[in-house]
Amino acid sequence: MNLVLLGPPGAGKGTQAKLLEDGHALTKLSTGDMLRAAVAAGTELGRKAGDIMERGALVPDDLVIKLIAERMDEGGEGRGYILDGFPRTIAQAEALDRLLAERHKRLDRVIVMEVDDEALVERITGRFACADCGEGYHDIYKPTKVPGVCDRCGGTQFVRRRDDNEEVVRARLKAYHA
Ligand SMILES: [Zn+2]
Repeated sequence: MNLVLLGPPGAGKGTQAKLLEDGHALTKLSTGDMLRAAVAAGTELGRKAGDIMERGALVPDDLVIKLIAERMDEGGEGRGYILDGFPRTIAQAEALDRLLAERHKRLDRVIVMEVDDEALVERITGRFACADCGEGYHDIYKPTKVPGVCDRCGGTQFVRRRDDNEEVVRARLKAYHA
């Protein structure tokens, strides 16, 4: 079974993709995760993508398509793919048709997640995570029980994604809707 999860940034695609991945032995292909990993690794692609993501703009089609194609060929595909954050443009959708056809696969379902823009801005700008164990928190919806201390591991260092600020979030939503 091959699925596409569509939805604006912050809709919870990653969370749902993880549930599907664990429950159905599907392989999650998340362009967001891949791009952030490339940025963290400091590869040439990562440096290019990092500049673009900091502005809240969409990463160019050719770059994203290349990432997805590489990951599809890394094996361990299990019983199918969950595509999270891809395709985002018509060119990417056409590329996906090609990539699947070349591998004798087809798309079974597309799930669209719809969330109000204002709710997304509040949700995204409030999120942070423990730097040690990765546990996710939110200023309003899921604060730590003791301020400044991770519930899970007792860590006191927290990180926020650099692109989780209001200006960037609004730019990302605008790019998504376009
Ligand atoms: Zn922790």
